[in-house]
Order: sequence, then structure tokens, then C-alpha cells
Amino acid sequence: MGEFDLIARYFTRPCRDAALGVGDDCALLGALPTGMQWAISTDMLVSDRHFWADVEPQALGHKALAVNLSDLAAMGARPRAFTLAMALPEINEPWLAGFAQGIWALADEHGCELIGGDTTRGPLNICITVFGEVPTLQALRRDAAQANDDVWVSGTLGDAAWALSLMQSSQPLPAEARSRLERPTPRIELGLRLRGLAHACMDLSDGLGGDLKHLLQASGVGAAIELSQLPTSPSLQILPAELRRNLALSGGDDYELLFTAAPNKREALQVLAADLGVPLTRIGTITRKPGLVFLDHGTPVPAEFGGYDHFSI
Ligand code: ADP
Ligand code: MG
Repeated sequence: MGEFDLIARYFTRPCRDAALGVGDDCALLGALPTGMQWAISTDMLVSDRHFWADVEPQALGHKALAVNLSDLAAMGARPRAFTLAMALPEINEPWLAGFAQGIWALADEHGCELIGGDTTRGPLNICITVFGEVPTLQALRRDAAQANDDVWVSGTLGDAAWALSLMQSSQPLPAEARSRLERPTPRIELGLRLRGLAHACMDLSDGLGGDLKHLLQASGVGAAIELSQLPTSPSLQILPAELRRNLALSGGDDYELLFTAAPNKREALQVLAADLGVPLTRIGTITRKPGLVFLDHGTPVPAEFGGYDHFSI
């Protein structure tokens, strides 16, 4: 099987939304309805850096698209289309079938159409670009936090990092923990429903402690975060409190949404949480004074949590 058969067999479907999809030099997208704008994001997954080459191909397909959809969720954008660029060390059909299945299942769940890509031989590397739509000026940006906003986070934190550390130390990995690491859920519906409720929003990929700093910097504000309020899942309750806190603050790969909202939105947000079946937890307050302060039951505690940085070592 060659490159073009591979694309035809695994990554080509009839066009649905796009004016022209896989097969020509470019895809063609129709105009957006008036009052809408494109939200576009790219994320690359590199073997041995973001995943191990022996990960289940279906899970890899899922995650490669999920981390991109998570960026659309963070902007309050609705997924429309994506491109898929991949380097493969060889053509392994069972692997490709699994990988494609993982991608298509998630793409179909969100009505997101594969419109093109690139396929080449090389060390395993997956790069996806997603295209979403959002009403003009309603995107949830990082620079929109306001003093006195509440700081909220969805779901639970630290599960993926806990799963990773179990894997790295060759300990048994409960199915639920593996799924948090390998099959994250992009919070698309939450992102859409946060439009008009939240001010600033971002998704958590490198750990709350580091990611939040980017949002604060972009908005020119500070925050006080109450460590005792960080939401962690029941499976982490067996861990010492300090380790649990560290996982929740510095663990990457959560793909939950971190957002700020005015205090008068608390009730609406709790209703939304119940509606979606996704916990939303208030973990702190935005301050006029720049800087990030951590509190433990109201008392400031020294804590320095950098997010993950590929070039920091
Ligand atoms: P070109 O040489 O013009 O860049 P290619 O030969 O790389 O085009 O690709 C042929 C067609 O297949 C293009 O429409 C491209 O978008 C699509 N394509 C290539 N790889 C993939 C892939 N992994 N998934 C989806 N579409 C792909
Ligand atoms: Mg090409």
C-alpha cells in the first residue's frame, strides 16, 4: 500500500460541510454565516514526548483530536473541520485502522469534518489543526479576566498526571486512570455554554499552577487560589494530601476548562454544571494586584508551581 491508497482508505470520506475536502491541493471552506468568525488552533503530538509509540492506536487517534478540540472548547468555539498531518515510520494497516477509528469516532461525536492533511514517512508524529466557529467578539479569551471575578475549574485535576506516574513506575493502572490520560474529554459543550457567562477562559494542558499564570499575565491581573478547594477525583483520595495537591497544581494533560466569571453568575454556573453533569468548582478570586497567591484555608502559603515547559531543562 502506498501513500495515496492509505489516504483514500483511511482518511477520505465524502464531503459534507466543506465545499472541497481531501484530494485536491487545498480544501475549500464555505463562508461563515454573518456574525461568526473562525477559531483556529494546531497541536502536535510527538512520539516519546507526548505519548509512547506502543500506546493503543485508537487511544492515540482520540487524544490527537481531543487535545485540539479542547482548545476550541476553551474559546467557546464550535468544531467545524480539521486537517491531519502525520509522519509514520511504516505502513501498518491494523495500526492505521485503529488510529483512524479513534479519530473518526470523536470527529463524528462533534460533527467535525476531516478536510485534508499530509502524510509522510518519519518518526511517528501527529499534527492536527482544528477550525471552529464562534460568534464575532464572543470568543472566551485569556485576556478578559476582571478584578473580583471568581476563578472556576471544571471536572477534577491531577488524574492524568497520577496515571502517568503509575505507568512510569510500572504500577497497575486502573482503567479509569488510564482513560483520563489517554482519552481526555474535550469540554466542548461547556465551552459553548460559557459564552456570555465567563469572562476569561483557557484549557488546562500543562498544569493549573503554570497555565493560570498565562491567563493572569494576559489579563494584567492577579489571583488568590484556595488550595483546599482544588477538585480531585475519589481515586486520588488515597494519596497523601500534599501529593494530591501537587498533582492537581502541576500535573499536565487534564484538559479541563479554567475560567473566570463575575460573582453574580454563581447560580447560573451551578445550574449549568448540573445540566451538563460536569462539576464546576470555585477555587479562588481574581485580584487587581498582579501575582499568584496560594491560600490554605485562608492562610497564604509559599508555593511555586511552574507548568510544563518543553524547553525549560
Ligand atoms: P500535496 O502534494 O498537494 O500537498 P498530498 O499528495 O500531500 O498533496 O495529499 C493529497 C491529498 O490528500 C490532499 O488533499 C491532502 O490534503 C490529503 N491528505 C494527505 N494526507 C492526509 C491525511 N493524513 N488525512 C487527510 N487528508 C490527507
Ligand atoms: Mg502534501
